[in-house]
Amino acid sequence: MNLADINKIISPTTAEFIGRRSHKMLIDGQWVAGSTGATLDVVNPASEEIIAKVPAGDAHDIDRAVKAAQRAFESVAWSKMRPAERQRLLLKLADLVEANAQAIAEIESLDNGKSAQVARAVDVALTVDFFRYMAGYATKIEGSTVDVSVPFVPNGEFVAYTRREPVGVVAAIVPWNFPLLVAAWKLGPALATGCTVVLKPAEQTPLSALFLGELILEAGYPAGVVNIVTGDGESAGAPLTRHPGVNKISFTGSTEVGKLIGKAAIDNMTRVTLELGGKSPVIVLDDCDPALAAAGAAQAIFFNHGQVCCAGSRLYVQRKMYDRVVADVADIAASMALGHGLDAATQMGPLVSREQMERVCHYIDLGRTQGAEVVTGGARAGERGFFVKPTVLAQVQQDARVAQEEIFGPVLVAMPYDDLDEVAARANDTPYGLGASIWSNNLSKVHRLIPKIKAGTVWVNCHSMLDPAVPFGGYKQSGFGREMGRAALDAYLETKSVFMSV
Ligand code: ADP
Repeated sequence: MNLADINKIISPTTAEFIGRRSHKMLIDGQWVAGSTGATLDVVNPASEEIIAKVPAGDAHDIDRAVKAAQRAFESVAWSKMRPAERQRLLLKLADLVEANAQAIAEIESLDNGKSAQVARAVDVALTVDFFRYMAGYATKIEGSTVDVSVPFVPNGEFVAYTRREPVGVVAAIVPWNFPLLVAAWKLGPALATGCTVVLKPAEQTPLSALFLGELILEAGYPAGVVNIVTGDGESAGAPLTRHPGVNKISFTGSTEVGKLIGKAAIDNMTRVTLELGGKSPVIVLDDCDPALAAAGAAQAIFFNHGQVCCAGSRLYVQRKMYDRVVADVADIAASMALGHGLDAATQMGPLVSREQMERVCHYIDLGRTQGAEVVTGGARAGERGFFVKPTVLAQVQQDARVAQEEIFGPVLVAMPYDDLDEVAARANDTPYGLGASIWSNNLSKVHRLIPKIKAGTVWVNCHSMLDPAVPFGGYKQSGFGREMGRAALDAYLETKSVFMSV
């Protein structure tokens, strides 16, 4: 599918947005070019065509955006806005996203490669739900009153209470796998609590954030409350993390970059939450239906082409069912239809970039070198577009690099195990701890396993289920802090204690 074919099937809104070709970024309520005039190409990963150019933002642009966000934070229009009005604005934004669901899904598909149908059903639907969920919190931010004793002032009388106050300017740095949704996870709590934001989308996938920027203005947010600076990690992301005007960084991305950001944050004592990589285990016990477990395991790894931080990339099957489950997963993988994300028949689109495709293929080769058997897949698919065949590797050793490192692609490593203590130890035996799933109907075994797993989320008989009300985040090198749920608000609020002698 080339641009001419695409234009025949996309909605008029998408056609108009994509047809602009050259985009600007949002600073202080205005759409502006970058200070240097340099641009970055945005590539459709299914066709390798350049579909847009966006400003290559740099430290100067970041400085303008942070200062705009600081002014907006102090402005009467935002700082004195009543909670009910912040709630109304976020609900309005959710309505606008919902009204533009098809266009956003198509833009996400063209930019990232994912299926537009899936983007609409998952990315956009979750974004709408999440904004609505967070909107409700704008009117439910509460401190507490505290009865105090103050032992060193025996005759004193005091009134003490706590206030929750917005932390200030938030730097939201997001990756390319769920560009809109992960931006929403940061914008939702920031806007509910009264923070202002500088959002930096990933250089590979900036378009849905820019489209969202238009909806943010349409919803009626005051200028500078949300600023969107496009650019790469080094030139735009790094200066944002070092800027002393930023009060909180919320980052989702690789553990490697997360560590750099954590270090930059400490220099300015900037609050920071990091949602990082994973190598999540899928643990199949031998009491369950092997066909159901295989379908679940396939979904766990192949959803979003394996480009999911909590993807179930390690499959542990109890020995007596191992061959059957691995064969079934391989059959599902081999039958998946690869294609353009706008084609309704597509079950798996391309990976996001040539770099990512090469990285994933390199890992598959590494697996082979370390003795893995390629049960299915194992190579690039076709010669145009960044497609990689869904791949299942067997005979993998626990300490092999493909079993330890995040591949971030459609590559599953399968390993047998014998007993539950063994599988718990092996499930925990990577640097990561984002998610895990257990497949069994034996309640006592499941309940014995759950506390042993060092991961931020444990799913049972499902994987990668997410809901705005349920906290999500990592143990160990998968990061710290939680997104979603009430827990997410804490990262955007300071606690001020008030002591009054009466
Ligand atoms: P991935 O490896 O999945 O591309 P990254 O962690 O490299 O993920 O990127 C996630 C986000 O972090 C992107 O928006 C990227 O531009 C940004 N980024 C990359 N390097 C840095 C950095 N040194 N400082 C701040 N942001 C960065």
